[in-house]
Amino acid sequence: MSQEFRCGYIAIIGRPNVGKSTLLNRLVGEKLAITSPKPQTTRHRLLGILHLSGAQLLFLDTPGILEPKGALNESLVRAALGALAGADVVVWLVEPRGPQPEDQVILTHLETLAKPLIIAINKIDLIDKPHLLPSMAAYHELFPDSPVVPLSALLGDGLPDLVTEIVTRLPVAPPLYPEEQLTDQTERFLVAEIIRERLFHHTGEEIPYAAAVQVEEFDESRRPELVRIRAVVYVEKESQKGIVIGKGGRLLKKVGQEAREQAERLLQAKVYLELWVKVWKNWRRDAKAVRLLGYQT
Ligand code: GDP
Ligand code: MG
Repeated sequence: MSQEFRCGYIAIIGRPNVGKSTLLNRLVGEKLAITSPKPQTTRHRLLGILHLSGAQLLFLDTPGILEPKGALNESLVRAALGALAGADVVVWLVEPRGPQPEDQVILTHLETLAKPLIIAINKIDLIDKPHLLPSMAAYHELFPDSPVVPLSALLGDGLPDLVTEIVTRLPVAPPLYPEEQLTDQTERFLVAEIIRERLFHHTGEEIPYAAAVQVEEFDESRRPELVRIRAVVYVEKESQKGIVIGKGGRLLKKVGQEAREQAERLLQAKVYLELWVKVWKNWRRDAKAVRLLGYQT
């Protein structure tokens, strides 16, 4: 292999819940992307940077590709397809069970893709070897020119193989980011995402999808003694507001406490977090609201 430095964008695409955000966090070695067992947790294109001695890998985590419906969903699919268009290498992250009918939506985008594609089979910790081999063969048949790499994003198995396959396909180019930088997102955004993840964790079916978090104030004038953060959780209905606040304010307090602890680790500072809940009627269907809450439309 040549000694020249390689650098490029790698889009991680795949169906909701297949483990894209978990993979990005593992690769970068830092929890940048929020993850959860609920599909559609990821709402933004998120950049995570892996620095190696001879290469810089710029990973783009994306919302899962699904049928677009409503202003928010349309924004999510656009973000995923945008990452695909801007990538030098594409990693299609798939289920260990083999190709499924639901893969068709993504397949139509991949078939016309004129760039290197790597198929990564995630969650192999959930399947025995005898079942994995036919699944690998089936994916191989779909794209005979692409390597098929089995891995477990959760346990870290197979990641070095994936990285090797990626690096050999990256363009020769100088690094784009300084070595200490792990993402292009602001701390403000990452804190909003932490709050959203804790909310996902503590609420049932309805709330996660109806909620958006906006950091209204991020005062670091006294850092590291104190970073003061004021954030608002927007929900779509009055009844949802009650759920998020919880009996005697307990749920919101729990979310705030856990989010504060995570934010302190991320920011390496003491954090004072003030959390409010507000109703924004049907914001997900309103393109302007979706944009104001930080989603690209
Ligand atoms: P995304 O929607 O594709 O970004 O998926 P997430 O990264 O949010 O992960 C969805 C769920 O799958 C989470 O509960 C993860 O912990 C879980 N998960 C991700 N990777 C693995 C894996 O390799 N093995 C197992 N057992 N679970 C995983
Ligand atoms: Mg995700």
